[in-house]
Amino acid sequence: MSFFDTHAHIYDHKYEEIGTAIEDVLRKCAESGVDRILIPGDSLESSKAAVSTAAHYNGNFGVELFASVGIHPHEAKTYDDEVEKYLRESIEKREELRIRAIGEIGLDYYYDLSERSVQREVFEKQLDLAYEYDVPFILHERDATGDCLDILRKFYKEGRLRKEPGVCHCCSCSVEASQELIKMGFFIGFDGPLTFKNNKKTPEVLKNTPLDRIVIETDSPYLTPEPNRGSLNEPCHVPFICSKVAEIKGITLEDAAALTYDNGNRLYGIS
Ligand SMILES: [Zn+2]
Repeated sequence: MSFFDTHAHIYDHKYEEIGTAIEDVLRKCAESGVDRILIPGDSLESSKAAVSTAAHYNGNFGVELFASVGIHPHEAKTYDDEVEKYLRESIEKREELRIRAIGEIGLDYYYDLSERSVQREVFEKQLDLAYEYDVPFILHERDATGDCLDILRKFYKEGRLRKEPGVCHCCSCSVEASQELIKMGFFIGFDGPLTFKNNKKTPEVLKNTPLDRIVIETDSPYLTPEPNRGSLNEPCHVPFICSKVAEIKGITLEDAAALTYDNGNRLYGIS
């Protein structure tokens, strides 16, 4: 059985702090059957880290690594010509740099670390980039579903979204909102919170998500799934999320692993 963790920040300094090297993270992946990881960027610095980590460690312990580059809504205030130049230049070289998406991009009104108007502007700029270069994007949305859907609807109606535009990463929106995203062609990303006992919403979202739209992700080093809650999250935990998907959808773990693996490949255009 193979698993694809479609979202893990394995360059995060938290691993170093507890004495865990990237090699250790990847070795544990291999032991758990996790053989593909997409490493997302969320700032200029972390986008560079994602790309260099994918280049440097790809193939270690048989784990294939891919990257994304993009500016998270928290960092929207840092978006300038220099950042856009970096994004363009790296996306133009996406094949050799193993870049498979733009992201994380979107809106976050929970933390409001950048002004909301700036978040919207920077989100739209990167949506334009995704369409211009014909690459999928990784959507981060928190407490901003209304504005986020308004922007996506506008792009959708104007024909400026790809047929399968990207993934609603760590989906925390309502069933209704997720259904609208699915109609626009999005994949829905499920993480640790799916396994949390007090979480009633995400299992409902999953029940209403077609099998060909589900991807699994850890968002490491955050959001550690049950039964390992409390420890630092790692991609080797993604099978716990997959088994929760299998349980809720009433399918075998093998089937859940195979279909989420295929979906991850389709989402990111990996053959
Ligand atoms: Zn993330």
